[in-house]
Amino acid sequence: MSHVRPLIAGNWKMNGLSADVDSIADLAARFEERVPATRVAICPPATLLMEMSRRLAGRGVEFGAQDCRMESAGAFTGDLSPEMLADAGAHLVILGHSERRAYHRETDADVAAKVGGALRAGLEPIVCVGEDESQRDAGRAVEVVTSQVRGSLPSALGGKPFCVAYEPVWAIGSGRTPTVDQISEVHRAIRRELLELFGESGRQPPILYGGSVKPQNAGEVFSAAEVGGALVGGASLLARDFGAIIEAF
Ligand code: PEP
Repeated sequence: MSHVRPLIAGNWKMNGLSADVDSIADLAARFEERVPATRVAICPPATLLMEMSRRLAGRGVEFGAQDCRMESAGAFTGDLSPEMLADAGAHLVILGHSERRAYHRETDADVAAKVGGALRAGLEPIVCVGEDESQRDAGRAVEVVTSQVRGSLPSALGGKPFCVAYEPVWAIGSGRTPTVDQISEVHRAIRRELLELFGESGRQPPILYGGSVKPQNAGEVFSAAEVGGALVGGASLLARDFGAIIEAF
């Protein structure tokens, strides 16, 4: 198991307006009086990063982006560079989320290039991997996930802070979760791969689980082997549910 602090990160996806910043202020208030043993992060849409990070500076909650381009600046209409996101208050960036891989056709090589950009800007990447339902049904979950890990994590990550998020595509937003044994099997395989790629420093990165984590199943998910936190989508939009998940770790 990793010795660094676990991370519970909320992925707001394309949800949230400025009025929703208040819900995060409520969440921060809940954790302000004690230094949590767990890191807590919110990855809002980029439009809210600056307002959230300014309003909640020093309140114990970290902020992250949901994607970035690899370049630092240039003629890429509509895109955001890692440097811009860091400037807006991000410390973390989610990369290779299955929705980016599906809707924007991002490959492992694209994700690895973006990781390089994130490191250049001082952002900590959360690199997502996960099999789809047909791959799981064909008994290929471990093979698919380890191949994504190898292809998406460049050697430049060695010794740097980063996380891997195991997010089975069929569990995202579906209300279905793998069994504890299935999560343990894949998380152990990811840890083995990290040790192979990065040597002893591969023991450090937390491996998050993501996919329909709710207050009701968080305790069970967190009991699986090598689970160093969670990436939470839908349930992170309600401060009460997200708080309960954080408390379950
Ligand atoms: C996600 O999209 O990263 C995710 C985990 O979503 P949900 O929790 O809604 O399944």
